Formats: sequence, C-alpha cells, structure tokens
Amino acid sequence: MPDLFIDGTWRSALDERTREIRCPADGSLVGVVDEAGGKDTAEAVAAARRAFDTGPWPRTPAAERGDLLLRVAGLLARDRAALARAESLDTGKRLVESAYDIDDVVDCFRYFGRLVASETGRVIDTGRPDVDSRVVYEPVGVCALITPWNYPLLQTAWKVAPALAAGDTFVLKPSELTPHTAIHLVRLLAEAGLPPGVANLVLGAGPEAGAPLGDHPDVDLVSFTGGLETGRRLMAAAAGTVKRVALELGGKNPNIVFADAGFDAAVDMALTAVFLHSGQVCSAGARLLVEDALHDRFVDEVVRRAGRIRLGGPFDERAQTGPLISAAHRAKVEAYVARGLAEGAVLRCGGSRPAGPGLDEGFYYLPTVLDECTSGMSVVREESFGPVLTVERFTDEEEAVRLADDTVYGLAGAVWTGDEARAARVAGRLRLGTVWINDYHPYVPQAEWGGYKQSGSGRELGPAGLAEYRETKHIWRNTAPAPQGWFD
Ligand code: NAD
Repeated sequence: MPDLFIDGTWRSALDERTREIRCPADGSLVGVVDEAGGKDTAEAVAAARRAFDTGPWPRTPAAERGDLLLRVAGLLARDRAALARAESLDTGKRLVESAYDIDDVVDCFRYFGRLVASETGRVIDTGRPDVDSRVVYEPVGVCALITPWNYPLLQTAWKVAPALAAGDTFVLKPSELTPHTAIHLVRLLAEAGLPPGVANLVLGAGPEAGAPLGDHPDVDLVSFTGGLETGRRLMAAAAGTVKRVALELGGKNPNIVFADAGFDAAVDMALTAVFLHSGQVCSAGARLLVEDALHDRFVDEVVRRAGRIRLGGPFDERAQTGPLISAAHRAKVEAYVARGLAEGAVLRCGGSRPAGPGLDEGFYYLPTVLDECTSGMSVVREESFGPVLTVERFTDEEEAVRLADDTVYGLAGAVWTGDEARAARVAGRLRLGTVWINDYHPYVPQAEWGGYKQSGSGRELGPAGLAEYRETKHIWRNTAPAPQGWFD
C-alpha cells in the first residue's frame, strides 16, 4: 500500500522514489516507504488549502472536533501494541518505552479533545448598552507539522492533536528515519471520520520534502520540532510570508545537585536523566552540575552504575537502553567525546562502542561520563544528543545558577536539594521552560512545554499549546449605529 496521503487518497511519490527503513538495533529491514519530493509536498499543501478554504473541518463546532479527537484516542489505545512495536523497530528504542510513549500519545489526544470542547470564546462587558463585544477563536489555516525521530509519534501527537482541535488543516512531514507510526496515525484519523484533505502526509528527506513547506505562500503556520540549525533555517524561510512559527529545538540541560540532596534518588535520576533512550531526548540532563563537597562521592557512584548499564535491542527484556538512531549520529557523538577529551575533560567510563553478542550490527555507544568539564567546552555547550554526561563543579548557589544558564539553550533542567527555600530560589532564577525539583523528566499534558532562549519559540501542550494553532478575533457590534458628527 502506498504511503503518502494527499487529499484523502493514499498514493506513491510522483517520481516513484522509495526509501528503506532499517532498525538501528541490528540493521534489519523494517520496510520500504514512498519518498516524497517537492512536487508531492506542493500537492499536499494545495489539498490542505482547499480543505481549509472550502471544506467542513474549520467550520465544524469545536465540541464535534473534540469528539473526533476522543475517537482517535480510542483507536490509538486499541492499536497500542502494534504502534509500540512499529515505533521500536524504527527507533531501536526498548519496547516498554515505546509502549509508554503510545500511552502518552493517547493522553495527548484526550487532553486536547476535552480542552477544545471547554475553551470557548468570551463576551466582553464594555459597559455600553449599544455594543456587543466578543472574542472568538478561529483556526490559523494550513499548518506544516515537521517532526523528529527521537519520539516520533509523541512529537507528532503534540502537533496533530491541537491543530485538529483548533480546526486547522495540515501537511505532516515526519522524520525520514521513523515514518511508520505517522502512517498508522493518519490511517486512524481517516478511520475516525476526518474529512479528506484535512490531514496530509508526506514522507521524505528534510531538504526535499520538508523545506518547500517553510516558504510556501499557502502555509500559514510552521510547527517544527528538531535541531537548532534546521529551526533557524525554517524561521528564516517563513519570514518572507510572515508565517506563525512555533519551534521546539534542542537543549543542553543542567541537572544541579547540591550536597544536601537525597543521595540515592539524586544518583538514580542523574543516570535516568541522561541515559534514557541513550541520551536522545531533548530534555536529557546531559550536564551534571555537582557541588564541590559532594563531587567525588557522587560522581564515583554515577560512574559505577553507568558502567553496568545493559545495552540491547528493542525486544531484549534485559536491556536498559538501546542504540543511537544511525551511523551518522553515532559518529557525531564520537566526535563530541573526542573533542571534549582534547579540551581537557577526563574520561571516567564509556567513550567507545560496546562489544558483545548482538551489538555489532547496531549503532550502540557506551554510556559515557566526562568529568572535570568546564562550560566553555564544546561537549558542554552543544547538544551531542547521545549517552554522554559532562560533569562540572560549583561551590555555591550563585555559581550553580550562573553555570546552568551559561548556554544558548533553555529547555529544561533540575535542581536537587533538601533545602526547600533554596529549591524555590534556584527554580525561580533558572532561564528554563521546565524546572524539576528533586525529580527529572516527568511532564503532564496540562502543563506547557517549550524552551527559553534558543531552545525554541512557542509552546506545546497546555492551553498555550492549543493557542499556538488558533487566531483570536475580536468582534465588535454596534447595535444602535448613529452618526458621530466628527467631520461635519
Ligand atoms: P532535524 O532538525 O535534523 O530534523 C527534524 C525534522 O526536520 C525532520 O523531519 C527532518 O527531515 C526535517 N528537516 C531537516 N531539514 C529540513 C529543512 N531544511 N526544511 C524542513 N525540514 C527539514 O532534527 P532531528 O535530528 O530529527 O531531531 C533531533 C533534534 O530534535 C534534537 O536537537 C532535539 O533536541 C530536538 N528535539 C526537541 C524537542 C523539544 O521538545 N524541544 C523534542 C524532541 C526533539
């Protein structure tokens, strides 16, 4: 069955190109999918434009759109096992993690389904009997939704659910490396009764299938999750037609541990913060900032436990984390580690590829700890997006905050301390979109997600996540028009 979905029809790429998708855990062939080019993307935009301008979806009452989202949530829950398996094959991620991701996808559709039904416009009391004034929400229009490979369906859900809730139409361009769950989702949208042309799917490489969305005059909004450089390029491309641009970019996230932190939980979560999904998490706690007095004991324990982490493929139940997404990505991580060592970091564990049965065919890299780092090193400043923890020391609260904020990024981070007042002070000062206190990684769909500084522009999830996909219009009605006489 062909894999591009345009104007309610599944079809192949116009030039009949295809791409092999291989599992990063062992290189096995997962599938062959159609590969769109610029002409396919142009047709998808035209379909989304028609559906927006003349189709029923933007004019469907919000509560009915919410109902459709709830139906989609039910279908996703029905297909949970198949979706989790597909996600694991594309990403190499452990099956149990993919299953959690699918649960989060279901929650996301439910959340926006309910939110849109409850978030109505408002009437303004102007105090004047001759005037009605009200604020209404309208969809933005045609949205380009461009997503990455690390949480493929989840990042897609964070965009598709609010866009549909708001009444938009869209062209979805998932990562070329991990397309299968996006294909499945689009099938479910059709099954749930979404009208043709509202959801359009193009698969393919960024420069060919994605870039034409950035400056297309018929695209009203670009919502992008991915790397900083691609985000910059899309923002520049969108400037020509002044599109709405929502960017969710990278992070180089500080995990700050004070000497009075609960030791066991802080060590445990320092490992989870950075080694979950082999560090391929935008909010990964890849920078450990540890108070001088605790440094040796804390880092020794982190290193001891990092050295024991078991690597393996998605269906290896003993594995604790999996491979990197591609050979090219692993080479990038290796280059960051080499540069860190050249700049003076001390290798405490990892720093190489693992050996062992079943690991040679995949893109594995050992959990790595680099000690004695400073905030000027490229491995500290830039996102390696791999299982690489850098360790910096600080002596007091002031220095901890200064070091944590000494980065162009501002996505997320954590502070660990037994002192509640200090936790509140530090959390209040950090220039980050999410701060965890004595925890790492949890999120809820009710709370906004997004970055300060160059981690992005815009918010996903929460009421602001829906607001990204809506226009707000003020309608003023004069019920007793009469001449004012200003220009008599
Ligand atoms: P990427 O920027 O390489 O690609 C992301 C998407 O953009 C893919 O679909 C890709 O095909 C497309 N793309 C690439 N070039 C393009 C172009 N010129 N025009 C249009 N589209 C283009 O990022 P990636 O490697 O897939 O993902 C990893 C990055 O995503 C990391 O930096 C990570 O921090 C970030 N990320 C951020 C969040 C967040 O919530 N802030 C969440 C997940 C991932």
